[in-house]
Amino acid sequence: MRQGMRKGESFPWGELLGYLSRKLVDMARIQQYRLPRDLCCVLDELLKVMERGPEDKGTILQRVATSAQECKACGLHKFRNKVVVGEGNPDAEVVFVGEAPGEEEDLQGRPFVGAAGKLLDRIIEAMGFRREDVFIANVLKCRPPANRTPKPQEVEACQHFLMEQLRAISPKIIVSLGSVATNALLGSQQSITRIRGEMTQWEGVAVMPTYHPSYLLRYPEKKKEVWEDMKKVLTFLGRPVPKRGQGSNPSEES
Ligand code: SF4
Repeated sequence: MRQGMRKGESFPWGELLGYLSRKLVDMARIQQYRLPRDLCCVLDELLKVMERGPEDKGTILQRVATSAQECKACGLHKFRNKVVVGEGNPDAEVVFVGEAPGEEEDLQGRPFVGAAGKLLDRIIEAMGFRREDVFIANVLKCRPPANRTPKPQEVEACQHFLMEQLRAISPKIIVSLGSVATNALLGSQQSITRIRGEMTQWEGVAVMPTYHPSYLLRYPEKKKEVWEDMKKVLTFLGRPVPKRGQGSNPSEES
């Protein structure tokens, strides 16, 4: 810690946090305290941040991608062909968050490139965006065998990658696709049928929960509800809402 401060100089909160973190970790080592695992992770991350200084978002996203490629924090690493970190515009206004990679995504290493991905592309285009305008990611970065629902411990092990991506991108709104993505963001245990269409928040960023495109492939009649949710997203962003028959509104497809 610096010893003195000149008048008008801002208080060095970063230095203070780094100093306190180091002290706490040292005390825990000396006294052999067992700090809770989450607190250890936070302190560890804080110390790393203190050492390397502030990063720009491109560096953060690249660091997340590299860490995920090497990650073996849950058993899913044994089954993966490729890690699917996410892709898109680092300055995106909208981030779409799904559950986990499927078969095609696992082979290509890219999110939402199978049948559900093609439907998501049509939804994005109907909203007036191109795929490269938005960012697309999943809660899990590796494919669960046979596309089974992720286990809670897998979500817990992996979700910090997504959180770091979202903090770096800092979008205006997140569209959470399905229960797994929505519950991971909100820390809840709710059915998507109960909470879809109701705008909520994650760390101060707006979140619109809606159905996952895979669900829409099984229940195409639900496309109308998703389109209603996307209209709310467009209104929130102050963007024009296409009317029926004015474009490729996916809810008009049979
Ligand atoms: S799913 Fe996530 S936590 Fe599990 S091995 Fe892959 S990157 Fe790591």
